[in-house]
Amino acid sequence: MEKKNLDWANLDFSYKKTDKRFVSNFRNGAWDEGKLTEDDTVTISECAGVLQYSQSCFEGLKAYTTEDGRIVAFRPDMNAKRMENSAKRLEMPTFPPERFIDAVVRTVKANAGYVPPFGSGATLYVRPYMFASGPVIGVAPSDEYQFRIFSTPVGPYFKGGARPLTLCVSDFDRAAPNGTGHIKAGLNYAMSLHAIVTAHKNGFNENMYLDAATHTKVEETGGANIIFVTKDNKIVTPKSGSILPSITRLSLLEIARDYLGLEVEEREVYFEEVKDFAECGLCGTAAVISPVGKIVDHGKEICMPSGMQNMGPITKKLYDTLTGIQMGRVEGPKGWIKVIE
Ligand SMILES: *Cc1c(COP(=O)(O)O)cnc(C)c1O
Repeated sequence: MEKKNLDWANLDFSYKKTDKRFVSNFRNGAWDEGKLTEDDTVTISECAGVLQYSQSCFEGLKAYTTEDGRIVAFRPDMNAKRMENSAKRLEMPTFPPERFIDAVVRTVKANAGYVPPFGSGATLYVRPYMFASGPVIGVAPSDEYQFRIFSTPVGPYFKGGARPLTLCVSDFDRAAPNGTGHIKAGLNYAMSLHAIVTAHKNGFNENMYLDAATHTKVEETGGANIIFVTKDNKIVTPKSGSILPSITRLSLLEIARDYLGLEVEEREVYFEEVKDFAECGLCGTAAVISPVGKIVDHGKEICMPSGMQNMGPITKKLYDTLTGIQMGRVEGPKGWIKVIE
């Protein structure tokens, strides 16, 4: 498909309408066969479960153009599985993983002209999501749902690319100990908006959330997991039942261990320890791995030794290897790359 005439190098992280999107409806206990459509609007009951009680979940992944001109997606099977978990926790029907992957492939293929060219720094962001479309007035799961996937070409999530970020330790909580922090529910984001707007007003890029029960342990930011590097080059990442299991983080830990030969620890991380780490990064599909230069705790600054100018050396190696695999420059572990065309 001929590439669209976009200013690829200067794309920001925002929604741009593309040609086709996938839609499937769940009615009378079953998903229909689904189809691609040009209609970018949704018409649902005024009393739809998503509008009244926020019954919705979503996913996010990217499609890339590789060096040799193929279009690939990164680990869509993991997104399919995670969305199943999200749906189950929200009492929604699951969308079968093999159908999820097929719908991703069809959506990307139908919008191949919007997949940014290799080397542009941009990617096609793919957004699967599901919501309660049927009416509910008493608090209960809906009987009807819609599953959709749209795609939109995006530039880097954090403007300025590799420039280290400043986080602030938030007084707000992101996720309750036995709540929904571990699933990709829209409601987790609704309740984080006030916290992020407040952080931005105060000049910070992101919030660092601590565990809601004790406010002593590091959890994650609003939309990305956290990885630390110790002074002796060990990778440490927080373990908690209320962190969203990032596919990027899982992949980076595997890369650290199997490609870079580093020791990897997933364990509880006390905020007290943060001052002793050498590097810190935020990881997620949108962020890839973005370096953190400074963490501010109620006016007290923790400056990472890696500084405010560049990525730390280990963060850089992780970034280069992961993006190398995604762009086809480095051979990835079996099953990580789904060739679309
Ligand atoms: C989506 C998300 C992430 C990143 O997950 P990836 O699978 O790596 O994209 C991290 N934290 C939260 C809260 C998220 O919603």
